[in-house]
Amino acid sequence: MESLEGLSSYAEGVYEVTDKCPVCGNRTLTIRGVVYNTPYFGRLLLEVMNCSTCGFRYMDITYLDSKGPVKLTYRVTDRVDVERTWVIRSAEAKVYSPDLGFTLAPGSAGEAMITPLEGLIYRLIQYAEAMRGLEGEAEARRLAFIREANEALNGFREFTLIIEDPTGNSIIKPPPGREGRLKEDRLEVPQG
Ligand SMILES: [Zn+2]
Repeated sequence: MESLEGLSSYAEGVYEVTDKCPVCGNRTLTIRGVVYNTPYFGRLLLEVMNCSTCGFRYMDITYLDSKGPVKLTYRVTDRVDVERTWVIRSAEAKVYSPDLGFTLAPGSAGEAMITPLEGLIYRLIQYAEAMRGLEGEAEARRLAFIREANEALNGFREFTLIIEDPTGNSIIKPPPGREGRLKEDRLEVPQG
């Protein structure tokens, strides 16, 4: 969450409460919420939970100006896109790329995040590098992914970034002047 530092000047409200921990049951869960009012993204509520007994930690983001469940599609074409596109991913979002070949399922792999696209690609490369013990075809795919993700990181490989978020709390913010290239589809969320 290093990148949030730059946004902190827009914080318009902060609260902190203590609650029961969903993991260990002790009343040592601190929930800290901050509302950021950013001209760039709109209003975001960031919540961090932390249990001092068992170490449980969770973070989530609520996009207060959300228009509802959304599928965001953005074609990343060059280094400008990599450096200057911002990604806000809520914990409920699925982030994937059919052509670069990765999927971050909801809730997994680092929960909510606010990062330039560059930071997301770095993280994917780190995950792939940490994945040991694969053999044959799977290992070949892992090595190919690391190579292709590094090309994408440097702007030498185009790919499509897709975020599906049933809460509508995720955002892709393209570089200035490229906003029109972002495809925004409303998602149908099954009732149940
Ligand atoms: Zn706990």
